Amino acid sequence: MLPETKSSTKDIPRIFNITESAHRIHNPITPEKLATLGAALRLEAGARVLDLGSGSGEMLCTWARDHGVIGIGIDLSPLFTAQAKRRAVELGVADQVTFIHGDAAGYVSDEQVDVAACVGATWIGGGVAGTIELLARSLRTGGIILIGEPYWRQLPPTEAVAKGCLANAIADFLPLPALLASFGHLGYDVVEMVLADQDGWDRYEAAKWLTMRRWLEGNPGDELAKDVRAQLTSEPVRYAAYTREYLGWGVFALMPR
Ligand code: SAH
Repeated sequence: MLPETKSSTKDIPRIFNITESAHRIHNPITPEKLATLGAALRLEAGARVLDLGSGSGEMLCTWARDHGVIGIGIDLSPLFTAQAKRRAVELGVADQVTFIHGDAAGYVSDEQVDVAACVGATWIGGGVAGTIELLARSLRTGGIILIGEPYWRQLPPTEAVAKGCLANAIADFLPLPALLASFGHLGYDVVEMVLADQDGWDRYEAAKWLTMRRWLEGNPGDELAKDVRAQLTSEPVRYAAYTREYLGWGVFALMPR
């Protein structure tokens, strides 16, 4: 666990705190699919769930409400962590979930958990393999690891198309069958998965546009106003041409073989 005093000065790049300030879920998964995933995992009351990069806490808070789980979330954004704490109070689960502001890199829980998750933040462990290794250190025997990760829904025909999806290269992601095979190569069974669809991508990406527009109206003189204006102008077309067509996303449930 990281001391609050040391971590409280840390934050993610401010642009994300602006564009995703109104998001409850910072990924293309919808509330319905998050509920589907919770049910699919057959969570039992009292099950312990660790979430690295817990964002605004929607997964832990709704699973605490719906399944009675006990959750710990760690996130680098003070804004999202504060939102997660407020959401826990709103859903009446503040005594079941703990949200810690800090860097989750290297974080291992004191008590072993039934579910260890990193949903859309696998850079925390230096990639998928490293993040699985990190999560495994907190996992009880027989527990489940959850990894949320993009994959190529269609393989980009050129590197330029991959860049249009905001990837550095085609090699950043795998097609779905290869991603599933890669979990096997790491020694894990894939025991469940819930995949996002294009409507889910719209909820994640398109929701940023109204947030940006309203932020611009309220903060015309801000040092980031030019960048946000440029993003709002270009994002709808870029997103529709690239991310929405080429990028898939899913949460994969893994158990060591
Ligand atoms: N799992 C959440 C959030 C995904 S977005 C959800 O699905 O809604 C990625 C999250 O990772 C953001 O909330 C960001 O603040 C957080 N993050 C980025 N780097 C991190 C780090 N080193 N340690 C902990 N959290 C980090």
